[in-house]
Amino acid sequence: KLELRGVAKAFGDNAVCRGIDLSVEEGQMVCLIGPSGSGKSTLLRCINLLEPIDDGEIMLDGEDISVPGLDPQPVRARIGIVFQSFNLFPHMTAAENVMLAPRRVHGKSREALAAPVRALFQRFGLGDKMGHYPDQLSGGQQQRVAIIRALAMSPEIMLFDEITSALDPELVGEVLDVLRQLRGEGMTMVLATHEMAFAREVADKVCFLDGGMIVEEGPPATIFSTPQEPRTKAFLKRVV
Ligand code: ATP
Ligand code: MG
Repeated sequence: KLELRGVAKAFGDNAVCRGIDLSVEEGQMVCLIGPSGSGKSTLLRCINLLEPIDDGEIMLDGEDISVPGLDPQPVRARIGIVFQSFNLFPHMTAAENVMLAPRRVHGKSREALAAPVRALFQRFGLGDKMGHYPDQLSGGQQQRVAIIRALAMSPEIMLFDEITSALDPELVGEVLDVLRQLRGEGMTMVLATHEMAFAREVADKVCFLDGGMIVEEGPPATIFSTPQEPRTKAFLKRVV
């Protein structure tokens, strides 16, 4: 379980997160929606300790992971993150990309990783692509490899930041299918997304962010059908 209490983050005098409270239960998929600049990416980066927070706390299974000075490495092994840009190393095969972090962080050998990594590629329909280099894969396949790379660390929680935004429309579906599959397997996930139809279909909870605050949150049926806040209504009118 992930719990944020009063999380605040500013860049200079730009207050980007202004007291965010958020609970993510085990196995839940929580979607963050909101206009550009509302703080979705920053919030995800704070959860993964890529940005230090100014105030509040981030509790992971009852442990405050936001205390200053904490080694972020073990926390990042427990919280996977995938970005819009896949950032695969071009000179390494898909399998080598996936093995890199477990080898470095967990000290595992290639031999020890061969079977579990093969199983991951097969689970997500890429069993025949392990030896391919990124430029031999489609954008959707590269993004699925990036997801597999994060999963190879056996994270407890996965964060996804607009992971379909850079893809050609016909490739979006195969990446969303991976998220559906992960949800079915009980993975705990937080997504920043512009895919409103997808959020509506699979989210357990949708949070609408504006100006660095969660303006409104609830089950997707409620947020999308009967939003209460004027700002939520105005946003949905623009994007749906
Ligand atoms: P989008 O939908 O466009 O991805 P977002 O909701 O993810 O938007 P953020 O990327 O979190 O929004 O940005 C929120 C605000 O924080 C913006 O005003 C942005 O300029 C600012 N910001 C983000 N990262 C930094 C940084 N490293 N340094 C300074 N300002 C930043
Ligand atoms: Mg963003």
